[in-house]
Amino acid sequence: MKVPILDLKPAYDELRADLDAAYHRVMESGWLLLGHELEAFEAEYAASVGTKYCIGVANGLEAMQLVLMARGVGPGDEVIVPSHGYIATWLAVSHTGARPVPCEPDPTTYNLDPARLEPLLTPRTKAILPIHLYGQTADMNAINGIARPRGIFVLEDAAQSHGALCGGGAAGSLGDAAGVSFYPSKNLGALADAGAVTTGDAALADKVRHLRNYGSKVRYHNEYLGLNSRLSELQAAFLRAKLPKLAAWNARRVCLAQRYLDQLAGVGDLVLPRAPSWATPVWHLFVVRTKQRDALQKHLAAAGIGTGVHYPIPPHLAPAYAGAGWRRGDFPLAEQFADEVLSLPIGPHHQPEQIDAVCHSLRSFFQSG
Ligand SMILES: *Cc1c(COP(=O)(O)O)cnc(C)c1O
Repeated sequence: MKVPILDLKPAYDELRADLDAAYHRVMESGWLLLGHELEAFEAEYAASVGTKYCIGVANGLEAMQLVLMARGVGPGDEVIVPSHGYIATWLAVSHTGARPVPCEPDPTTYNLDPARLEPLLTPRTKAILPIHLYGQTADMNAINGIARPRGIFVLEDAAQSHGALCGGGAAGSLGDAAGVSFYPSKNLGALADAGAVTTGDAALADKVRHLRNYGSKVRYHNEYLGLNSRLSELQAAFLRAKLPKLAAWNARRVCLAQRYLDQLAGVGDLVLPRAPSWATPVWHLFVVRTKQRDALQKHLAAAGIGTGVHYPIPPHLAPAYAGAGWRRGDFPLAEQFADEVLSLPIGPHHQPEQIDAVCHSLRSFFQSG
């Protein structure tokens, strides 16, 4: 049985009528940028997250960059980021001229460990930027509890956590603002690059809205040094077609995750994902850890099972950051996880039998090894 890590075609099969209608609606309107579809999607997405404002932008990286720009973060400033995560979060900081300051993860959740935050804070710390990694929110109560009394801005990277909850609040509504990505493979994905900023802060929302469009409020009157970072009418219309499915698709992921957890307990040296009692994850990825990661990945590939590694090189060791002075050994947990993590197939259109086949192949690897 072949089990691809990702297959986007079944989502089209399920939503064909709505997606085709969205395409025709936009083409008939003759309006392709900054129009009715975007405004409607922004209102619908803000309502789903529980924030007052949503501003559609071109992608997740620029969503975070635009928030930092709007806050005036720049050269000489520091922003705390997770040492274990995706490099886009760091790039959003670096592109403002500020310095990413890595914070090691909690080894049971892989998210930024609030217990390690305080020693990293300096008078230059302008923001804390936790990722809700793999579909599970960071410990936002603890992070806000450290940031708020000090007046430090909290920006969530909600790119992997559409619909995830922390207590009663949804990812994207848990800090001062959030950047979200609708890259096609995310839990809510457009059919090309797309992203958004969510926030309850009217002034910040207003500034991001202008910064995404060359920094102009009125055409050809430019108040800020903005970007061109717009979410197109077509992608907004596709996202409107998909948003009503998000909860049901997340629920299917939850079922499949439970199926893995039930079958993989005690298998080999596998470390399975765990959610604290306050977290309701949406399983963007199902990530296990093992000392035999590369051999296991090969074994699964030979059985027709696709897997991924999120991520093989921690950002501080990426050649892009060679000039920043970090070395191997600086962030041992991030380095260890980069060597050990393996993402198993999980998506709203995987069948339970496919998950069983992955578990079977995993057990056979550890029994014969
Ligand atoms: C996908 C992703 C991003 C980047 O989003 P893009 O839309 O591809 O720019 C940032 N952070 C995390 C955690 C992501 O998974």
